Amino acid sequence: MDLCVDIGGTKTFVAVFDDNSITPREVEQFPTQSHRGFEDFLNRMVKISKRLLNGNHPNVWGISTAGAVDEYGNLLWSPNLGWKNLPLKKIVSEIFGDNGVVENDCNAAAYAESWVRQSDNLAYVTVSTGIGMGLVLQGKVFRGSHSSAGEIGHTIVEEEGPVCSCGRRGCLQALSSGRGLENLIQSITGEKLSCEEILLRAQNGIEPYLKVALHGAQVLARTLTNIVDALDLQTLVLGGGLTKNEFYVGKVLKYIQQNYYRPPGKVVSLELSKVEPNPGVVGVLLMAREIFKGIKGDIGR
Ligand SMILES: [Zn+2]
Repeated sequence: MDLCVDIGGTKTFVAVFDDNSITPREVEQFPTQSHRGFEDFLNRMVKISKRLLNGNHPNVWGISTAGAVDEYGNLLWSPNLGWKNLPLKKIVSEIFGDNGVVENDCNAAAYAESWVRQSDNLAYVTVSTGIGMGLVLQGKVFRGSHSSAGEIGHTIVEEEGPVCSCGRRGCLQALSSGRGLENLIQSITGEKLSCEEILLRAQNGIEPYLKVALHGAQVLARTLTNIVDALDLQTLVLGGGLTKNEFYVGKVLKYIQQNYYRPPGKVVSLELSKVEPNPGVVGVLLMAREIFKGIKGDIGR
């Protein structure tokens, strides 16, 4: 059996897979509660993993996590989890053996999507509490110079925009993410509404919810259109909680479809993620199998 874990800001998924299957045999979710410290998290994660493995040692294992991860599997920094400079791969290797991979969740998700869709120039964008992106370019995960490529949530899209959690003004996620929409509405009406409630009111044409939601969708769509064109992508995949909302994601996809630059013959595939239980888990599974079992996805490498 193979073991994969996806560490998110709120929830952590643990999944075990039979050899050669990308459909999990069993999945369990638990609250990450990273504020209790890494040791506490590790103990809970290992306990659940061992139970799901039924006493077996995993052939390969993988961890996808929020935050910047370097090529050696060190978690450099995760503002969402509040963890810094963690030699995650080394620590987990001592428990489950050396055949493991640790990867940023969006990079892992991009890898899974590229494998499933046989696309070797692909971006995976998650639109959720925050906004992040993973890239597979020419068949390889692209990390950038500081393992932080794809941080589009903190690209500045509006000079005089709202203040972001990073301290700057006008970041994409301050305008278009779930938390961004919630904060904007609170600053206008004083209400503490969930993003779902805001989008429901927007869908019913109620102001100021409609205006805030449409602006968020438009800014996101314009940013994604620029990324699609700048990188000449073959495929853009959207995932994360907000993409389950047809009203919001529909506006985003329609704008991109109508506005991307069209030299002769250019066709960009715009998709919603359908990889279960989530593409991060499946991405690290595929990465670990490729490295340690020599199983390659046929995506042009
Ligand atoms: Zn920011």
